[in-house]
Amino acid sequence: MSQTHEFQAEVKQVLDIVIHSLYTDREIFLRELVSNASDAMEKMRLTQLTEKDVFDANAELQIHITTDETAKTLTIADAGIGMTRAELVENLGTIAHSGSKAFAAALKNAGKQGDATLIGQFGVGFYSAFMVADKVQVYTHSWKNDGEHLVWTSDGQSSYTIDEAPDQKRGCKIVLHLKEDAADFCKASTVRQIIEKHSNFVSFPLLLNGERVNTVEALWLKPKDSITDEQYKEFYKFTAHAFDDPSYRMHFQADSPLVINALLFTPTHNMESFGMGQMEPGVSLYCKKVLIDPKPKKLLPEWMRFVRGVIDSEDLPLNISRESMQDSALVRKIGDVVVKRLLKQLDKEASDDAKKWDGFYKDFSRFFKEGVATDHTHREAIAKLLRFESSMTQPGETIGLADYVKRMAAEQKAIYYQVAPSRDAIESGPYLEAFKAKGIEVLYLFETIDEYVVSSLSKFDDKDLKAVNADDIDLGDSDADGEALPEAETNTLCDWIKERLNALVDSVRPGKRLVGSPALVLTPEGEMTPQMRQMMKALGKENGMPGPKVIFEINPRHALVKGLAKLQKSDPDTAALITEQILDNALLSAGLLDEPQRIIQRTQKLMEKLAS
Ligand code: ADP
Ligand code: MG
Repeated sequence: MSQTHEFQAEVKQVLDIVIHSLYTDREIFLRELVSNASDAMEKMRLTQLTEKDVFDANAELQIHITTDETAKTLTIADAGIGMTRAELVENLGTIAHSGSKAFAAALKNAGKQGDATLIGQFGVGFYSAFMVADKVQVYTHSWKNDGEHLVWTSDGQSSYTIDEAPDQKRGCKIVLHLKEDAADFCKASTVRQIIEKHSNFVSFPLLLNGERVNTVEALWLKPKDSITDEQYKEFYKFTAHAFDDPSYRMHFQADSPLVINALLFTPTHNMESFGMGQMEPGVSLYCKKVLIDPKPKKLLPEWMRFVRGVIDSEDLPLNISRESMQDSALVRKIGDVVVKRLLKQLDKEASDDAKKWDGFYKDFSRFFKEGVATDHTHREAIAKLLRFESSMTQPGETIGLADYVKRMAAEQKAIYYQVAPSRDAIESGPYLEAFKAKGIEVLYLFETIDEYVVSSLSKFDDKDLKAVNADDIDLGDSDADGEALPEAETNTLCDWIKERLNALVDSVRPGKRLVGSPALVLTPEGEMTPQMRQMMKALGKENGMPGPKVIFEINPRHALVKGLAKLQKSDPDTAALITEQILDNALLSAGLLDEPQRIIQRTQKLMEKLAS
């Protein structure tokens, strides 16, 4: 019985672009179909390890490509897991899979028309067949013994049909009825060239019109100097199903203590930033060229899920099951060796070419920050890769922690930072002054999560990381100009302020670290920092959160403070209004002002007093 189905709306959108807008690089449709065939057979091989009841159990795991110049067709057949009726609908009628999902997401971000160059960076998976064919048939039988012989047919417009088909083998046979302008793809010589270019890394025999074309080779086992850049690139694209070029690569071969061959890549584009949700692990585990697990969860730490490639170790038992693999100490050890090497290499490459690293880091910093926060074993090595702007860099320029430490003065005790939304917010605030005056560099941390990252790190190169608004920083006496209010008067003023603002401040004291500002607020040890408070608010948890408890530091050298000391005696009410305003200004700089409206009423009152 023939069934007609409508494509899901997103699929229609993708198909529309594929058919009408993508003309360059059309040949990659073949890589897509071959890679699907290879995936399906890889899944078959793993299924056969545990399932006994398999349809067509003796079918050879090969890919057969046949060309027919008279019929103008190109056929790609595999002996993979095939698809049931429900799977045909799910896999070829909706968007639930990686390649086309990225494409659809990019399409959404790029607007209706879509940006052709952006789109060129993504795969459209199976649907790319419609770049060259005006009719596609997928003959299939699932590996399940009770499956049906089916054929899926579509012209890529808006619907497809599923019919019962005559007897056939397990797997999928995809028949492309080529468009007039794509007739070249039914020529054996053209197809052979494309396979050699894009699909040389298929780990199953690939036959063109009955003749073997690929040599199954494990690139990661070959000596480095026998591999060209181009081969590395193609390998990355093929194994990672990627459409960008790799940004960094590491080819690592070790004999002791473990025999490990690893070939790893970092992408150019961060797929998570396209709103695709969390990536799956992208480094496969092999033992002597045999795939053990395509997406092992415990091999590399979770934060490294953006890394792609292959790790092969002879020391793994070949028959290791995927379940026991997850808990194997050996697997963790292999992962650990590779992670250390990769971090070391990235650190070197980052210092050798800082500009390249900055470009990469812009897109991928989230992962490294997550690593510092979650990966205790490699924390310090990951921290070396972090980059920040600072009080000594130009806007947009960055520095790493190692370089910061290198240019610290001998007597400087800690690494200082301030978390704030922008460079302006930091440089116009009161905290930086004293550090600037003493020539101490301060790192600028612009993201709310940075607070969490540095507090997980807590030390780098044995030096504490300290927020500039921490209570317990002593920079020594400031050598700032200007006569200060005498100590006794300062203390009287502090006591008076404490009395008047009792509900608003934890304590009041003269500050040494102020240069040009009348006052600032500090967070006492053990109190929630301004960033933590902002995080709570962002999570909608500010209800029941106690008001900020701050230390109020006033600057006895500042004219306003000196004036206040006098006014407090002659007109205490006006002095109190001014003091409250100074406090609110300081709270605002610290990101702690919860009720900015109260400033309006107060300034109103102050102005009335001035004008009367
Ligand atoms: P992706 O390969 O990124 O998942 P595709 O668009 O290439 O996306 O393929 C969509 C889905 O269709 C695959 O995930 C798979 O489930 C199914 N599929 C495609 N080709 C085959 C095949 N030759 N054998 C079995 N399933 C296939
Ligand atoms: Mg695919």
